[in-house]
Amino acid sequence: MSESSLRVVWVYPDLLSTYGDRGNALVVERRARQRHLNVTRIDVRSDQAIPTSGDIYLIGGGEDRPQRLAAERLRADSGLVRAAENGAIIFGVCAGFQIMGHEFVNDLGEREQGLGLLDVWTTRGEGARCVGDVLADIDPRLGLPQLTGFENHQGVTHLGQGVQPFATVTVGRGNGTGDGTEGAWRDTVFGTYMHGPVLARNPAVADMLIRLALDVNALPPADTTWYDALRAERIAATTRPA
Ligand code: GLN
Repeated sequence: MSESSLRVVWVYPDLLSTYGDRGNALVVERRARQRHLNVTRIDVRSDQAIPTSGDIYLIGGGEDRPQRLAAERLRADSGLVRAAENGAIIFGVCAGFQIMGHEFVNDLGEREQGLGLLDVWTTRGEGARCVGDVLADIDPRLGLPQLTGFENHQGVTHLGQGVQPFATVTVGRGNGTGDGTEGAWRDTVFGTYMHGPVLARNPAVADMLIRLALDVNALPPADTTWYDALRAERIAATTRPA
């Protein structure tokens, strides 16, 4: 972490921020401030350079065309890749997750190169879009509670040897491959299909990103009353028989 402040970079809010993904930046800021950390949030529009000195980078989801534009700009900029090489924490949602892989299928039906930050690639699902609430068990190595989120994507993401599934779904589709995997991670780089916004529904994941940025095993406890109410409401709605 930089000396004076935790630097949270929100990548391309003008292109990648569907379903309230902006909330992820707000929640990381809030959880850090609850621990009396000094936080600087840097919103980087797609016509601006990505700083390489951030501690935590957040990338949201997007429609197919903005996703292609975002991938073009991120490839040309290279700041995110350099930040990852420096050990920054990166957390991408849906389109952001797909862009972090080797390739995805763009709005023109063409294979589009990603950033290669995660050993995954995304094809276009032949069946119905994956839409709805999701429950999943996060990789036990991460020691986190049940994951709750909302998915809406046509892409199907395949995992290579260089990543682990972030979670295994109990309700919903996740990566859409039919094997129950949801998202992917390696070291300090994470991708997920979960909107919601996912960090508002899963503050323990936000806390994990902060712990990794600070390189500590634990953070002081912080009130989760509001988050607990949201989690309980969404988990009940997801498990209730239709
Ligand atoms: N455009 C991508 C897809 O449909 C991602 C959608 C999203 O970010 N919600 O697969």
